[in-house]
Amino acid sequence: MVLPVLVLMAAGGAVDAPGTAPAAIVIATSRGQRAIPVSLALGHPSLAAAQLSALLPMSAQIGRDWATVDFAGQQFRFLLGAPLFQFQNRIIHLVGGAFMQRDSLYLPLQWLAEYIPRVFHEAYRYDPLAARFEELGITRVATRVSQPAGPTPRPSDVPAAARAVGLSARHRVTIDAGHGGRDPGTSGRGVREKNVALAISLALREALRDRGVDVTMTRTTDVLVPLSTRASKCNAECDLFVSIHVNAPPGSSSRYRGLAGLEAYFFDYSDPHGAPDRIAVRENESLRYETDADQVASGDPLGFILRDLEENEYIRESAQLADLVVEAAGAVHPSGSRKVAQDNFEVLRRAGRPAILIETGYITNATDNRFLTSVAGQRRLAGAIADGIVEYLRSYENKVSQ
Ligand SMILES: [Zn+2]
Repeated sequence: MVLPVLVLMAAGGAVDAPGTAPAAIVIATSRGQRAIPVSLALGHPSLAAAQLSALLPMSAQIGRDWATVDFAGQQFRFLLGAPLFQFQNRIIHLVGGAFMQRDSLYLPLQWLAEYIPRVFHEAYRYDPLAARFEELGITRVATRVSQPAGPTPRPSDVPAAARAVGLSARHRVTIDAGHGGRDPGTSGRGVREKNVALAISLALREALRDRGVDVTMTRTTDVLVPLSTRASKCNAECDLFVSIHVNAPPGSSSRYRGLAGLEAYFFDYSDPHGAPDRIAVRENESLRYETDADQVASGDPLGFILRDLEENEYIRESAQLADLVVEAAGAVHPSGSRKVAQDNFEVLRRAGRPAILIETGYITNATDNRFLTSVAGQRRLAGAIADGIVEYLRSYENKVSQ
């Protein structure tokens, strides 16, 4: 069964404004009826999640930046302190967001009153005049349509191939083959980046599937995909975003001669303008091939929030992922791996997950070129990158389970 489409609407007037907020709302369910006080601590009406959990089929997992609320099998992710939540792969904006106070999670009344009745439309109703949220006693129609975003799926969901490489959860990686269509990327020795990046990406898909990891591809053919669309393929089910590229020296000067080897990058907020040899400047040029419509239609729901988070957990996680991939891939690459670095890559900023960009080698270098364009080389490299990813996922599982 498919969930009813969640219609995005501007916030209604009844529950969002402090002036009209009730002092308490009544929760009426088959488990009992109770008045729950409404907090206006941050200026918008909010409810303590623990009090809701006592009466509603609800539980919450609280992370550093996000709280994941499971309500009757559906997952709602709240970026703490930000006026939004994520449901399935959408961002829904609120007047005020979820927040922590004295170790307790508070959820916006607007989410409960406006969105829960919409998601479970035959099961719950909110009456703003009576300030009453009630269970209707009808069998719920909503069923889970996606894997849980949390780190602890049921053991039975874990593919045998994943268990064989030491994973105890099901994971999904989004692989982004750089460039495509009218954006060829860089080129050298008769080879275009877009074609090599796609071949390595397809080999990486195989290698990850062999290790029991699910894969989403941003493209599987020679088409141009806007950077923002690439990032949005890493949705609620996605654990990591890995973008595959091929390098070329930033100029013809002799100091660039002899450049070879693999590099991995993760995002930072530095402004690359004015430094034309910065690699992010060149990779972000893909934006030039996108029409204005591509860019306007995509929006940027998470990017602006992530910019504002001073310590972004994703950046730390991305750094660790980059380290592990560079180590594993460097061992099979004929020119080794050169470095892990940060730069302001548009596609990584928008991914909203731990994300890295791999420059798999220099297309201009004869050794790298041979390795990257041979089927055997592509498979070896893809296998090593997949090993690095799996090692990261294992360490992430360990961290989460402690
Ligand atoms: Zn590129």
